[in-house]
Amino acid sequence: MTLAKAYAAFSATAPLGPHQIERRAVGPHDVQIEIAFCGICHSDLHQVRNEWGGSSYPMVPGHEIVGKVTAVGTHVKGFKAGDLVGVGCMVDSCRTCPSCQRELEQFCEKGAAFTYNGTEMDRKTPTFGGYSSSVVVDEAFTLKISPKLDLAAAAPLLCAGITTYSPLRHWKTKKGDKVGVVGLGGLGHMAVKIAAAMGAEVTMLSTSKAKEVDARKLGAQNFGLTSDDATFKRLAGHFDLIIDTISAPHDYNKYLGLLRVEGVMVLLGVPPEPTSVAATSLIFGRRTLSGSLIGGIQETQEMLDFCAEHGIVSDIELIPVQQVNVAYERMLKNDVRYRFVLDMKTL
Ligand code: NAP
Ligand code: ZN
Ligand code: ZN
Repeated sequence: MTLAKAYAAFSATAPLGPHQIERRAVGPHDVQIEIAFCGICHSDLHQVRNEWGGSSYPMVPGHEIVGKVTAVGTHVKGFKAGDLVGVGCMVDSCRTCPSCQRELEQFCEKGAAFTYNGTEMDRKTPTFGGYSSSVVVDEAFTLKISPKLDLAAAAPLLCAGITTYSPLRHWKTKKGDKVGVVGLGGLGHMAVKIAAAMGAEVTMLSTSKAKEVDARKLGAQNFGLTSDDATFKRLAGHFDLIIDTISAPHDYNKYLGLLRVEGVMVLLGVPPEPTSVAATSLIFGRRTLSGSLIGGIQETQEMLDFCAEHGIVSDIELIPVQQVNVAYERMLKNDVRYRFVLDMKTL
């Protein structure tokens, strides 16, 4: 057991503050990591504020973790002290159910062990995330980070990167496909970069006119302002695939109308309240409304390798951990360009 410094939420309404947690002793299959950086995902805010229900406190958020290996267990084969590594949204799963056998640990039928605000597979030991100085994780859930990538800017790949890469791969995005990305935040900007690297023709659909220049720099060829009804007329029936990253309630039907016949819209954003969908939005044009949850461990490694090959990292604002509460407020105002990353040296 070692003590680790952390930043934690103590209730749904209080600001996050300093805390101390225990990390387990390094077991035979474990990797001990000194955390260098941790990205701030909008899911951190949803859970800290208990917007999805069932949050437990104290909560140490953070599932976009990167750092350096400081020790490994006796049976660990893939990692050694000094390696650059990452940990995403999961730290374990049952490893035997049909989903785990298909490398879809995020859909583990016993319920994966999520990195924070959850428990280990014993369903007793609480998990604490990356807003902390160190973590101990089984090597099967530890990812390799290429030294070619800027480490701080690679942190958001562990959630925002895999969450957008996975549906783009699943729906077989290829050169020339027309992909719409809705919402230019952490997930949205990674979706633009990755879809563009796959050769897609990307359109950014945003409520923020001021983000148009950035969207084009990130790789979008087109931009549509979603507060303007003319955008929905102009782009009706246009897209093969729409990736929806909006974190707040909004009308899915409007966006479904932008799909071509048999086009697919994938929901990534998790607004706290449900939204109604008209059957006709899907029936006309045999359209599909789907969803996607992060990605499996093997696919996460594939994404990290893809990003290293294409030189893709996140556009980040590196902040001291003491600014996390301000960062949350800015994220709620859509004022994030395009991912806050905590510098754990400041803890
Ligand atoms: P973020 O950085 O805050 O970006 C969300 C973007 O959505 C905003 O920048 C804004 O873009 C747009 N938006 C926000 N409120 C809106 C509203 N009321 N109407 C229309 N557009 C709005 O958040 P994020 O970290 O990318 O996360 C996005 C969502 O994905 C969150 O709900 C998060 O929990 C979820 N998530 C899901 C998964 C998964 O596995 N499915 C993984 C990670 C995160 P514009 O300024 O361009 O309009
Ligand atoms: Zn996340
Ligand atoms: Zn399983």
